[in-house]
Amino acid sequence: MKKEVAARGVDLISLGIGDPDSPTFPHIVAALQEAATRPANHRYPDYEGMPSFRDAAASYLEKRFAVTVDPATEIVSLIGSKEGIANMAVAFVDPGDIVLVPDPGYPVYAIGTQFNGGTVYPMPLRAEHGFLPDLRAIPEEVAKRAKLLWIGYPNNPTGALASREFFADVVAFADRHSIIVAHDNAYSEIYFDEPPPSFLATPGARDLAIEFHSLSKTYNMTGWRVGFAAGNRALVAGLGKVKTNVDSGIFQAVQEAGIAALGGDQTPVAKMRDLYRERRDMILPALKSLGLEAQPMRGTFYVWVACPRGFTSTSLVAKLLQDVGVVATPGSGFGAAGEGYIRFSLTVATPRLAEAVERLKTLKL
Ligand SMILES: *Cc1c(COP(=O)(O)O)cnc(C)c1O
Repeated sequence: MKKEVAARGVDLISLGIGDPDSPTFPHIVAALQEAATRPANHRYPDYEGMPSFRDAAASYLEKRFAVTVDPATEIVSLIGSKEGIANMAVAFVDPGDIVLVPDPGYPVYAIGTQFNGGTVYPMPLRAEHGFLPDLRAIPEEVAKRAKLLWIGYPNNPTGALASREFFADVVAFADRHSIIVAHDNAYSEIYFDEPPPSFLATPGARDLAIEFHSLSKTYNMTGWRVGFAAGNRALVAGLGKVKTNVDSGIFQAVQEAGIAALGGDQTPVAKMRDLYRERRDMILPALKSLGLEAQPMRGTFYVWVACPRGFTSTSLVAKLLQDVGVVATPGSGFGAAGEGYIRFSLTVATPRLAEAVERLKTLKL
């Protein structure tokens, strides 16, 4: 449908994809340039990451979340956190195992599970529950067979945050049923009020959890492929065992750029938060004036909007596309419980977003 509309000569504005429009910060690019000239960096890296990269990741966790991990045994580098998320299932999911997956959710949790013969049990995220899964609604026999539970806050696609109390409930539930918890923290630095916590700071989490961090959204580095996982030593080792047999780690010059990102000046990150806040404050009033109900957006750069009466996720996205040339993502693409919502991503240049907002205001729903 996008091709069809573009062929009519419509200038499409895509608010569909969650990929920062701003460039990687200059000091990070400079670190790569310098590191790329050094022949020592041209050889195979270690799959688990350079000690200096893991030290930088550990210092970041300490400083940002007051979480202390041993960089030698409790951190593994990842070729982007997506790689680690997919490989978690290779490491831990056997045919017949159940994996508890948020719905709507980042598609890799479910697809990784299915590729490895696991069974996905979707946990609906509903507005009336603050877009947190209702652990009490999971049947006992499902919990018994569950091997792994995925959560991720700040949440893509709903923009919700989780409370420390919810994290404590997750630890209690997982402990009771011997389930591994995997927390996807890709948006830890994209928030609008209080900085959200690490799941690893929850009492008891270190016995059963692993957390995925990504430099992609924080430092505008999606194309660079760099992230890490941290947490329980046996879980980090299991993921590492897969990686040592499948990949050979991240180009060391990129790891050096990652060190510059994690250990360097964090004011550019604060400026990015301000930019996303400015964009959020542009689009929310326009949606409201249309009678569209945006969910409270407390983190990430996504606006999760309920479809008005008479529309499905896809019919609303189609109307936006055909009437005003604005591209959004149907919530149903994130799972069955995403039906009835659409997602806007605030990752286009601000003047383009302003144009999209003007167009949205002309819409007749
Ligand atoms: C973007 C994203 C990731 C993956 O990021 P990488 O670039 O692979 O580090 C992971 N989880 C969620 C929810 C995301 O939106």
